[in-house]
Amino acid sequence: MTLVSAHDLVSTAAAAGTGIGAFNVIHLETAEGLVRASELAGLPVILQISQNCADYHGGLEPIALATLAVARRAQTPVAVHLDHAERPELVDEAIALGFGSVMFDGGALPYDENVALTAEVAARARAAGVFIEGELGEVGGKDGAHAPGVRTDPDEARAFVAATGVDALAVAVGSSHAMTDRTASLDLELIARLREALPVPLVLHGSSGVADDEIAAAVRAGMTKINVSTHLNGFFTRAIREKLAADATLVDSRKYLTPARDALAAEAARLLCLFAAAGGDTVAG
Ligand SMILES: [Zn+2]
Repeated sequence: MTLVSAHDLVSTAAAAGTGIGAFNVIHLETAEGLVRASELAGLPVILQISQNCADYHGGLEPIALATLAVARRAQTPVAVHLDHAERPELVDEAIALGFGSVMFDGGALPYDENVALTAEVAARARAAGVFIEGELGEVGGKDGAHAPGVRTDPDEARAFVAATGVDALAVAVGSSHAMTDRTASLDLELIARLREALPVPLVLHGSSGVADDEIAAAVRAGMTKINVSTHLNGFFTRAIREKLAADATLVDSRKYLTPARDALAAEAARLLCLFAAAGGDTVAG
């Protein structure tokens, strides 16, 4: 099927009341493993590259072009998305490189500045036919909108979407970035109210810290795009640790990256199935 736009994947999932997995690419092996996951599950996936990842590689272009190439060879629909760009120029670069969707994260800015800058970036994305996700972070702090205890206000979110023209919104409903245990509990009632209040699909960030049942319940309550990074990194890295611990003489990096890529693919495939099965049947016909 090859490269598709995240807009199509997110809209289809939102209309069906199901979830779509958006998983972070860190390097070439994660892009390959995530596409393999999509093929194993027979379900679409969104590959996302964050600003942090671009900076890690010394720039967006090398990892972006590699990821786009892997996506184009997929047997299933795969989209490539820019995640958590805080620099508007990175959004412009992603659009020029052929990304079908981008996230501009002004969550750390004061509300008015976030609105103004997101609206500017969204206008440029729209002109290029690119889907744009925004983030509303009314409270600052280390983790921005996704810090524990922070919640998105439905009225403010509706005003933010109207003023900025974003196509999807990352909301704060109880999850937090980079958690290594899956103990976060989500405000399902707030998700339902946000779903009701907003004309655009909702995005759950920090899903690594949320258990299977809780994510499924969030999808049924109205969450659509489910972002996972840390949880899958754990599968990748544990497989490497296990392989290296078992063989102190190993030097060929492919020997430990192969099981890591396989472990990532298996867990990502399981999550894609979980998200796709979570809703849908609950939508009244
Ligand atoms: Zn995030």
